[in-house]
Amino acid sequence: MTRTVYVNGEYLPEDQAKVSIFDRAFLMSDGVYEVTSVLDGKLIDFGGHLKRLARSLSELEIRNPLSDDEWLAIHRALVAKNAITDGLVYLQVTRGAPGDRDFAWPDPETCPPTVVLFTQNKPGLADSPAAKVGMKVISIEDIRWGRRDIKTVQLLYPSMGKMMAKKAGCDDAWLVEDGAVTEGTSNNAYIVRGNQIITRQLSNDILHGITRAAVLRFAREAQMEVVERPFTIAEAQAADEAFITSASAFVMPVVEIDGAVLGGGQPGPITARLREIYLDEMRKAAI
Ligand code: PMP
Repeated sequence: MTRTVYVNGEYLPEDQAKVSIFDRAFLMSDGVYEVTSVLDGKLIDFGGHLKRLARSLSELEIRNPLSDDEWLAIHRALVAKNAITDGLVYLQVTRGAPGDRDFAWPDPETCPPTVVLFTQNKPGLADSPAAKVGMKVISIEDIRWGRRDIKTVQLLYPSMGKMMAKKAGCDDAWLVEDGAVTEGTSNNAYIVRGNQIITRQLSNDILHGITRAAVLRFAREAQMEVVERPFTIAEAQAADEAFITSASAFVMPVVEIDGAVLGGGQPGPITARLREIYLDEMRKAAI
């Protein structure tokens, strides 16, 4: 089936969708994005993603081109047109396509933002075998820019990190700055010690994960103790459990960090419980 995508107000077959070669995201990574999961045909935590989109755009002084209702309508239309039961909706907003390449930003009055959305079909997204097996991660230096709180399409280093992990026979990389873990290449990172869930505090050093906010709320409600502070790789290697969160992976166990095996190589009970609570609650609240 040819996918139907959305580009600047139009629903088109994917092979007819076009964006200018002068688009600032193509030339300068001057754009932001969001990824919302779809389970049972419904959007997971959509309100959170819209809020972060608005913040990313505002930090970059890009006008939010659509209202919340319009964003929702397009998401729902794409889910319906592409018959997505489980999968995701990707959205991207860029500073637009001025006629020339120039470091200075174009006048927003004459250069409207570019808006692109598409779906990815992922049957059984919530039943990923990786959730039962757990992930292996390596650590690499975090050499990204200093505004990781803005969800830009500037993803080259995270992508390189993912490849370094693959070459090492692992699934992902955790990024380390000044001796402490910031986050994963495309997810937030956590360790578990006893009843404590430890994850780095929010700042410009990490993306403020929408899944992170929900999982920490559920953890507190389940009487777990949440501690927001940096942790080292050595501390993670000695932890009872470790996991990551993201909108498309939900809560995913980590069972090996730089070759050190956690919990006998099996996903831990607290991680499994958080995953279950997260999926249950978010399915109930999906729209
Ligand atoms: N950190 C980074 C660097 C990410 O790319 C992502 C996923 N986009 C996350 C954290 C997790 O954020 P979310 O839970 O909103 O998907």
